Amino acid sequence: MRFETLAIHAGARPDTATGAISVPIYQTSTFVFEDVGKTRGCDYSRTANPTRKVLEDTIARLEGGRAGFAFATGMAAETTVMHLLKKGDHVISGDDVYGGTYRLFQDVMTDFGLEFTFLRMDNSKSIEEAIRPNTRMLWLETPSNPLLNIVDLEMVVNIARRHKLLTVIDNTFATPYFLRPIEYGIDLVVHSTTKYLNGHCDVVGGAVVTTTDELAQRLQFLLNAMGTCAAPFDCWLVLRGIETLPIRMKQHQENALAVANYLKGHPKIRRVLYPGLKSHTGHEIAKRQMKGFGGVVSCELTGGIKGVNTFLRRLKVFSLAESLGGITSLAEHPATMSHASMPKDCRERVGITNGLIRLSVGLENVDDLTEDLEQALNRL
Ligand SMILES: *Cc1c(COP(=O)(O)O)cnc(C)c1O
Repeated sequence: MRFETLAIHAGARPDTATGAISVPIYQTSTFVFEDVGKTRGCDYSRTANPTRKVLEDTIARLEGGRAGFAFATGMAAETTVMHLLKKGDHVISGDDVYGGTYRLFQDVMTDFGLEFTFLRMDNSKSIEEAIRPNTRMLWLETPSNPLLNIVDLEMVVNIARRHKLLTVIDNTFATPYFLRPIEYGIDLVVHSTTKYLNGHCDVVGGAVVTTTDELAQRLQFLLNAMGTCAAPFDCWLVLRGIETLPIRMKQHQENALAVANYLKGHPKIRRVLYPGLKSHTGHEIAKRQMKGFGGVVSCELTGGIKGVNTFLRRLKVFSLAESLGGITSLAEHPATMSHASMPKDCRERVGITNGLIRLSVGLENVDDLTEDLEQALNRL
């Protein structure tokens, strides 16, 4: 089955117990045993739940992996993945990852004895130089958040294989519709399903897809032991969202490209970051490894923080909010919102300036979006 069909049919659908065409929400904590020592498949919803199972199977199929796991949030998924490691292990991470990922690594996991090096994942020499005897994991994000830098997966996987490092990618921005990292040899794929997979700004959730039975068993153990799993109703919402993922992603991309092209020519805009633009440093790699460029556009305004505030206050169709990947267009200011958890010097070093705005381009009519940007920019 092809992607669009899997998005609608993967997993146990229709429901095997009742024939329900919509996956039932198995809103139950526990399951009655058939006999002593004999279940009907599930015994307790933390360990496994039939609604969650359909979502987990669907995401695993879409990513082309072995098994999937659904978590309460993207951060719950990431926290669980980090517990594959042990005290004393070293991780090399992209330096412009999601702000919450940076915070989890730097402010939480270091207290448990993990070590981190953050660097731009665009140079094989600097990645190799950062590898230590205790390095175990490479953590990647492409396109990255909010700078939309592109990581060359072939290059990174080559290094990881040579040094026997576990590769993890946060595929939230691209989604499996535009990028299938497992085809490049990535070991684990992480998602915030809060974003495009759900796509309707009405749930928080996370997912992990594994490529080997060994990783799957360990992840299932950790999910159950740590209790980081997703609730049945949230799983159902994400399943419903995924059914329209292909058509949504196509339209997000079409609208984002139009917005990027509009901003590119505007005198109040210093630079536009969108991997679909030829001017973007990662454009050629993105064109080669992705099927599309996604729906997020970042841009830098001239006129500093005052200009940013005026612009954000004037927007009418774009809402001022964190998050991304939903049907509705959102604008946010990384330096004070999504990436406020990153120290200022670190933000400046990686290029998250005070003038930077991140736009999650939604599914409204694109002329309404560019006209909204126009009227807000004209006030500057
Ligand atoms: C939002 C996001 C996360 C965190 O996910 P939550 O569902 O908010 O916990 C992780 N990575 C990326 C790229 C994100 O955009």
